[in-house]
Amino acid sequence: MSTRLSEIRRRPYNEGGGPFRTMYAPVAESPMYLASSHEDPEFNPQLSAEARFDNAAARLRIDEGLQKVLRSPSREITVHLPVLLDDGRIEVFTGYRVQHSIARGPAKGGIRYAPDVTIEEVRALAAWMTWKCAVVNLPFGGGKGGVICNPAQLSQFELERITRRYTSEIIEFIGPEKDVPAPDMNTNEQTMAWVMDTYSMHKRETTTAVVTGKPLNLGGSRGRPEATGRGCLIVTLEALKLFGKKPEDTRVVIQGFGNVGGMAARLMKRAGFKIISIVEWDGAVYNPNGLDIEKLMAHRKETGSIVDFAEAENMDRFEAMFLDCDVLVPAAKENVITSQNAGQIRARIICEGANGPTTHVADPILAEKRIFVIPDILANAGGVTVSYFEWVQDRMGYFWTEAEVNRRLEERMVESFTDVLAYANKHKVDNRTAAYMLSLDRVQFAIKLRGIYG
Ligand code: NAD
Repeated sequence: MSTRLSEIRRRPYNEGGGPFRTMYAPVAESPMYLASSHEDPEFNPQLSAEARFDNAAARLRIDEGLQKVLRSPSREITVHLPVLLDDGRIEVFTGYRVQHSIARGPAKGGIRYAPDVTIEEVRALAAWMTWKCAVVNLPFGGGKGGVICNPAQLSQFELERITRRYTSEIIEFIGPEKDVPAPDMNTNEQTMAWVMDTYSMHKRETTTAVVTGKPLNLGGSRGRPEATGRGCLIVTLEALKLFGKKPEDTRVVIQGFGNVGGMAARLMKRAGFKIISIVEWDGAVYNPNGLDIEKLMAHRKETGSIVDFAEAENMDRFEAMFLDCDVLVPAAKENVITSQNAGQIRARIICEGANGPTTHVADPILAEKRIFVIPDILANAGGVTVSYFEWVQDRMGYFWTEAEVNRRLEERMVESFTDVLAYANKHKVDNRTAAYMLSLDRVQFAIKLRGIYG
């Protein structure tokens, strides 16, 4: 079936994403979110990531010199893009591409468009991608890109011209063997089609593997839109085995009903889980017997909100996060589980669908409560894993069925879950520390094997 252009523009994609702001609707003031100011070190995701890096590096006893290598981006590119606007004026936009590491393979990571993109943010997100790719053992390093612009004030033609100029300015640095961008905040399948076309026009050959997150009929992969939510389901099922629980006896609360949370809810419901509450920015719904997710999606489509769903009670969205449940899936935004509220969480398992939903100060509180946390760099790595499959299929020129993609995704996620747990048991650390230790270890091992050139 062919994909219509309007669908292409709407579809969300995000392989690594990353906290550091979101594009979501403003959240009503509440103590829980008021605290989420990046001025407080607890809520600065960059500091959280650094704290976790430091902890893992110290436990691994990585030598100081290697730590310097792991901390430093391998390459940072800044470009200034003159673009002709629709009204005839010329504007100059600034764009970045940071390749944090190429030790294990080409850099991999999204390109975001936003008015407040900064090089610091792009740099931190590129490092984040290195750890995420390594934890699921993909042959990729980490990268990230961004263009300072306000997509809400730009036409499709202007966005196309910005994208093409940006691509042509970074063209020597990207490519299937060098750096493979993907969509991120405010970019989508259509953006990737323009990047791919511009690159291909310059190289004089169609090179679909230069980006992932492309439309299905232009070298995209089946199963990509569901991949992150499916990854959450897979790792949650693995965690349940450790608790000796079956999906039928498992009550789930999901925050965020978008690409990740909505898909996780749909797939978990199909797998037999009881989704007792969905939490959105404007309210939560609760049904102790389990929500009908398809009907809730239809209700949201019709009314624009999940609240006032006939088969559930409305609930305060903050209280819903503290419901007695087996699994909590924060799949909306960063900094929602903090030192101020972690003590109130009653879930036994937390599956971090979002990036950075837990602050580093909240980590020990959850550990003290013996909550089993499936950390973001593992839990939401299903997206980048299927991006890797897309790159593989493009290079083969042979495309798998959706069942094949899902089978391979399951294999990879289960393997990675097992690897993280093995590290946690061996080093007697929590799962997040184990995930960071595993990825740092993999990257440092590659650097050591390759040697320091120069
Ligand atoms: P999305 O925009 O599709 O969905 C987010 C949902 O969360 C929206 O429905 C939004 O209304 C809701 N939301 C926003 N603020 C909220 C709040 N304060 N309380 C409750 N709900 C709120 O985004 P997404 O693609 O699903 O991404 C969600 C998170 O997952 C982000 O942290 C992103 O970086 C991360 N992530 C996404 C992917 C992916 O493949 N989409 C991959 C890895 C990580």
